[in-house]
Amino acid sequence: AWMDALNRYREHPERYVAHGDGDDDLPVLYFDSDAVVLRDMFPKATVHLLVIPRPAEITFRHPAVALTREVQDTIQLAIQWAKNYTFAQFVDQFPESLSSYDLQKFITEFVLVGVHSVPSMSNMHVHVISRDFHSPSLKHKKHYNSFNTAFFVPWDQLPLESPPDKTQAELTIKNTPLKCSYCRRDFRNKFKALKEHLDEEFHNHFNKS
Ligand code: 5GP
Ligand code: ZN
Repeated sequence: AWMDALNRYREHPERYVAHGDGDDDLPVLYFDSDAVVLRDMFPKATVHLLVIPRPAEITFRHPAVALTREVQDTIQLAIQWAKNYTFAQFVDQFPESLSSYDLQKFITEFVLVGVHSVPSMSNMHVHVISRDFHSPSLKHKKHYNSFNTAFFVPWDQLPLESPPDKTQAELTIKNTPLKCSYCRRDFRNKFKALKEHLDEEFHNHFNKS
C-alpha cells in the first residue's frame, strides 16, 4: 500500500541513491546503518528531507513516543547531515542572500526538524524542512498547518509520553488560522492569499540576482 512506500528506502537505501539533482525515483542522499536521508517526493518547501531510522523493531512505532533520547542519538548524525545539506542547497541556489547567514544561524532560524502528530506514512520518519514553504506541492491548509501548528512536534520536544490524540490533532490543523511563517501575518482561512504572500516573502528574502 502507498502508506508503506517509505519502507523500501530503509530496507535497500543503496538502490535509491541519487545520481544528480531532480530525480524523483532516486531520492536517497545519505545513509548509514542507522538512518537514511532522502528527498521528500512532494516537497512542501524549497528543501524538504525525510530522515528514516532503519531498525525494523522501531519503524512501525509512533515517532512521537518511539523517538526516545536513545533512538534520537542513533540518528543524530543523519539529522545533522540533513541540516547541513539544507544550508548547502540554499548557499548554492542563493549565494548573495545567504551571505548574511552562517550555518548555525540559518539552521536555528530557518530549518524545522520534527514529526507529525498523526503521520500518514507508516514508517517512522523525521521531517527536515526549510521554513519558506514555497513550493507547488504545498496545496492546501493541511499541508501548511501540519508544519506550522502544534500538529508539528519539534525534535527537541521528543519523546512525548503518549501518542497525540488524532481527533484533537486534526482539529488543531483545521481551527488554527494560517499565519505567515516569516512575519506571522494572519491570513485566517485564505490559503490562496497566504500562498501569494509566501511567494513575495520568498522573493524578498532569496532572490537570484
Ligand atoms: P507524514 O505526513 O506521514 O509525516 O509525511 C510523509 C511524507 O512522505 C510526505 O511529506 C510525503 O510527501 C512523503 N512521501 C510519500 N510517499 C513518498 C515516496 O514514495 N517517496 C518519498 N521520497 N517521499 C514520499
Ligand atoms: Zn509574511
